[in-house]
Amino acid sequence: MPDYVHVLLGLALGYVIASYVESFMHEYVSDARPKAVRFWSRAPWLFRPMLNTHFSHHTIHHVRTYRSSHVTQFRSEEEKQKLTEELLQRGKHGRTIINGAYATRLHGEGAFVFVAPLVIFFPVFYFTLKPIAFLAGCVTLLLPPFMSHFVHPYLHLPFEEGQRTAPRWLAWLLRTRYLRAVYRNHFLHHRYGGVSNFNLVLGADIVRRRTRVLTEKDLSVMAEVGMPLPEEAPTRTVHG
Ligand SMILES: [Zn+2]
Ligand SMILES: [Zn+2]
Repeated sequence: MPDYVHVLLGLALGYVIASYVESFMHEYVSDARPKAVRFWSRAPWLFRPMLNTHFSHHTIHHVRTYRSSHVTQFRSEEEKQKLTEELLQRGKHGRTIINGAYATRLHGEGAFVFVAPLVIFFPVFYFTLKPIAFLAGCVTLLLPPFMSHFVHPYLHLPFEEGQRTAPRWLAWLLRTRYLRAVYRNHFLHHRYGGVSNFNLVLGADIVRRRTRVLTEKDLSVMAEVGMPLPEEAPTRTVHG
């Protein structure tokens, strides 16, 4: 097989695994159901990484922030202050959450559970693929942490604001058709309480039947908060 086929194979394998692991871990750990969280709480010494991931992602990012809208992290300075104080009482993990912009960015040990299952695939690829395919696979395997750290914060800003404030390379990326679809997937993820649309690396949600169809109401709320609309949707004025 020519080298380029190996490169494509590595990229594709890495992508499929990355998307699948992301969708699965986001559903069953980061936004785990209360029943699972209660079970982990019975043996916190064993399930601490899961409990911490669920707390920072679900409790803080989904529930305690962005309460009034998808693009407003805190409703007031008091709300932010109150949460900051609570998190400081939690010690090291609380400080990690604060430093990750209140769980908006992958930060420190918060990365652990999210990336852990992906780590297994680096040696698997290394020993089974040609070196060039291995390198290609590494690139796509690293997409979930890349998206969580660099892209996710912008998904919670109006599109135009992201275009003004992101570094040029990232602003370009955010304008692509793919990233516009990521904006919408993540908007639906939050709008319905973290029970569908888990991917930032798109794909596995569709295979796993975890996507929702955009309704007219979704579209109008998206327009209000400045999310990029699907190209076929009628254009609306933001405050119209
Ligand atoms: Zn989010
Ligand atoms: Zn979530």
